[in-house]
Amino acid sequence: MKIYVDLDDVIADTVSSFLVIGRERFGQNVQYQEVDSFDLSTTLRLEPAAYEQFMKIAHEPATLLRIEPIAGAKEVIARCQERGDEIVVATGRPSYCAEASSQWLFDHGFIGTKLLFVDKYAHSRDDSLSTVVPLELIPEMEFDIAIEDSPDVAKYLAGLMPRRVVLVSRPWNRYVFTSNPQLPLLAADTWEEISARIEELRR
Ligand SMILES: [Mg+2]
Repeated sequence: MKIYVDLDDVIADTVSSFLVIGRERFGQNVQYQEVDSFDLSTTLRLEPAAYEQFMKIAHEPATLLRIEPIAGAKEVIARCQERGDEIVVATGRPSYCAEASSQWLFDHGFIGTKLLFVDKYAHSRDDSLSTVVPLELIPEMEFDIAIEDSPDVAKYLAGLMPRRVVLVSRPWNRYVFTSNPQLPLLAADTWEEISARIEELRR
């Protein structure tokens, strides 16, 4: 199977790391469970100029390299690869993060994964690198399953590949299932559950 796996907050514990920056550099003490919006400028109550500064620090290579991996991700992905699955790490990070992101995947044992930059949040339009794939082109890549934490991206993908998108439960996407239980999305809390969803779709 060809598997789309998001990077931030699916295999990398990015928000936890970003909250440390919010606390230490911007004096905003927000707990993980309180992050109820995908938009961190809202959660961290940062004005546009401060948010811009925050995002700059958040995407520095040293910051990105400090992010911890999420438990179980490496093992499940390695198991899939052993079965012959192709793993594409599809990230919405700006493409200037390519080197640090590849390094991070290597450092944490995500060997043999492909890193793909996808313009998920329409902030890469002016990106000088041509390696950023528009979200609209994802269907052409014929993924069998996608694993996401972004409510909007997951909903969009689920429209294209119903019941083949796993929305990993995070405080900022809790509302998705409660507000619309009919959405053709699969739910998972942990990598153990993500693995179970993958195996169900394999049958
Ligand atoms: Mg993500």
